[in-house]
Amino acid sequence: MTTTSIFPARYVQGAGALSLLTEEVARLGDTALAVVDPMVMPALEAALHAGGGVRVSMERFGGECSDEEIGRMAAAARACGARVVIGMGGGKPLDTAKATAHALGLPVVIVPTIASTDAPCSALSVIYTPEGAFKRYLVLPRNPDVVLVDTAIIAAAPVRFLVSGMGDALSTWFEAEDCKTSGAANMTGRTGGMTAHGLARMCFDTLLADGVAAKKACEARTATPELERIVEANTLLSGLGFESGGLSGAHAIHNGLTALAPTHRFWHGEKVAIGTLALLMLTRRPRHVVDTVYGFCEAVGLPTTLADIGLETVTDAELMQVAELACAPGETIHNIAGGVTPEMVFAALKAADAEGRRRGHRHAA
Ligand SMILES: [Zn+2]
Repeated sequence: MTTTSIFPARYVQGAGALSLLTEEVARLGDTALAVVDPMVMPALEAALHAGGGVRVSMERFGGECSDEEIGRMAAAARACGARVVIGMGGGKPLDTAKATAHALGLPVVIVPTIASTDAPCSALSVIYTPEGAFKRYLVLPRNPDVVLVDTAIIAAAPVRFLVSGMGDALSTWFEAEDCKTSGAANMTGRTGGMTAHGLARMCFDTLLADGVAAKKACEARTATPELERIVEANTLLSGLGFESGGLSGAHAIHNGLTALAPTHRFWHGEKVAIGTLALLMLTRRPRHVVDTVYGFCEAVGLPTTLADIGLETVTDAELMQVAELACAPGETIHNIAGGVTPEMVFAALKAADAEGRRRGHRHAA
C-alpha cells in the first residue's frame, strides 16, 4: 500500500529559542519580511537587535488572514526584496505568513507565540473575509521550512491557550486511529504511514503523562520539562498526527458546533474537546478509555458538558443542526468505518453531555 506523510522541514523549540531566529532565517536568505502580531513586536525587535546578518522588515498584522491582507504583505515583501517570510504570533498571522510565502514562492519561518492549536506545522492556511467570516482553505504545496517555538514566551501567555491546545491535541490519536481502522485518507488525500499513527499515539500519551504538571507550570509562568513536552505535543506531535494521520469525527463535530452562536466565545480546542468526547461515544470506545479521557479533561479544565461551551439551554433541534452539519458531504466524520448518520451524532452528543454531567455531580457530591 502507498502511504504519504508530510512534515515541516525543521522544528526548533526551547526557552529562549527566539535568540536563534536570525540564525535559522539566515540559512534560507539574508532579507526577510516578518508578518507580526502587534502584541509580540517588542519581543521580535529584541531578538533582531541581538542577532545580526539578516535584514528584517516588520509589518504589523492587520487582524484577519484575508486575501487583501495577504496581498498587502506580498507587496511589502516585494518592496523590501525579501527572500524569506517570517510569521510571528497566533494562528492568523502565521497563516497569513504561510500564504504570503506561497504566493511569492519563498520559504517561510513560523514562530508561534501561543500553543493553542496544532496549526503552526501544517501545510494549510484558513482564509477569511476582511470582516472575519470563513472564506476557504488554502492547501499549500509544502509545510513550513522552520517552526521555531520559544517556550519562555508560551509559559508567559495565559494558561487558557495551553489548555485549549491540549483540547485540540486530545482529538489527534482518536481521529488518526479511526482513519487507520477504516483506511481513510489523511490531509494529503492518501493513507498515512505508521510514523503518523505512532506520533499521534505519543501525542495522547504525553497529554496524560504531563498535561496537569504543564498547566501548573504555565500558571507559574515557568518553562519546566513537562511544559516543554506539552508544547511539543500540542504543536508538533498533534500537527503531524492530524495532518498525516487524518481527521474523523472530533473536528467534524467541532465544525458543526460553530454554527451555534453561544459557542463563539469558546476556543477551537475547547470545542474540539467536546467533539472528542462525542466521538468516543459515537465509536463506542472501551469504558476505560472513556473514563481516562473524561478524567484528563476534568484534571486540566477542558469542557466535558455542553453547558461548559455555552450550550446550557441548547434545544434538540439545535443539536440536530450540529449533527447534520457534522455529517455534511465531504466532512471528515465519513472517515469512520461503517458510516455515520446525523441521528448517531445527535445521540453521541447527548450521551457525551450526560456522562460529563453524571461525573460532575459525582465529583460535587
Ligand atoms: Zn484542530
